[in-house]
Amino acid sequence: MSVPPPQSLGSGIHLIPAPLPYESPPWVNTYAVESNGGLLLIDCGTDWEPGREAIRQGFDYLGLEESAVHTLVVSHLHPDHVGMSARLVGEWGCRFVMHERAANLVDSYNDSPGYMSRLKRIASTHGIPDPITNPATHVERPYYMPLIEPPDHLVRDGDTIDLGDGRSLHVVHTPGHEPAHISLRDSRTGILFSGDHILPRISPVIMYDLDLGDVLGDYLASLQRLIAMEVGVTYPAHGTLIDQGDERARQILLHHDRRLLDMAELVRSEDTTAWQVMLKSFRPNLDPLQSRLAFLETISHLEHLKLTGRIRDETRDEKVIYRA
Ligand SMILES: [Zn+2]
Ligand SMILES: [Zn+2]
Repeated sequence: MSVPPPQSLGSGIHLIPAPLPYESPPWVNTYAVESNGGLLLIDCGTDWEPGREAIRQGFDYLGLEESAVHTLVVSHLHPDHVGMSARLVGEWGCRFVMHERAANLVDSYNDSPGYMSRLKRIASTHGIPDPITNPATHVERPYYMPLIEPPDHLVRDGDTIDLGDGRSLHVVHTPGHEPAHISLRDSRTGILFSGDHILPRISPVIMYDLDLGDVLGDYLASLQRLIAMEVGVTYPAHGTLIDQGDERARQILLHHDRRLLDMAELVRSEDTTAWQVMLKSFRPNLDPLQSRLAFLETISHLEHLKLTGRIRDETRDEKVIYRA
């Protein structure tokens, strides 16, 4: 899929799509917002030349100056959003803003061997056959994901980022897809910059990890917040713009409700591991990355069912078995 051209969206907001080294999603939407006589950039993509070049050319095409960027805000700690932050902050000398939870999570973002060993532990307790050699648990740090620096300015839910002229971005903490995830609501237009929290056609992956608690529960609560806020026009980090953000949040809630019902049913029919539930819930022949994501998403669903009292678990031979 080819990357769409940059465009000005009105109200001082400019969209600059930057290609990603993935098949899906093929690009990330970065947004340059006119602010206090300069520019604020939301998200920046992975650190590779085509992405850097797209930002350079996008600014040129739209008549914007990179030297005017005083702030980079990143929605969450995934490489397709924060990957190029160290390079851009170094080149531009700009402020780097993220949610306060990112301050502690940068270390684990930078620690690939640590992630790999957590993943192998999760894999063996949740029933992946041959967890040490299974390609689904093998992660290598890609070249486009260099180590990053922590943000130098932290925000929390309810904070505002001043844009000048009485206009601001209102910070909405929307954990679930990633614990430090924020969405930003423009006080002038009501537009929501949703990062990966809601996306137009796909439902963002909700990945289980050790020590994060009920990530799916966090995610569903973050969707409910958008519904309560009656969010309208939404500018997501991937894909096309969304007309009605609260409606999209409802659709994604429904998708998870259905999946929870189906998985609870599978557990009721027989005692099972997360890996077995994953094999029955997703299409066959997933590649190793897709299998890993589907596996972690399955655990987040089963843990949510357990923590809300709908199923139980027990440990047999060092494996977590879910049961009615
Ligand atoms: Zn993400
Ligand atoms: Zn993303």
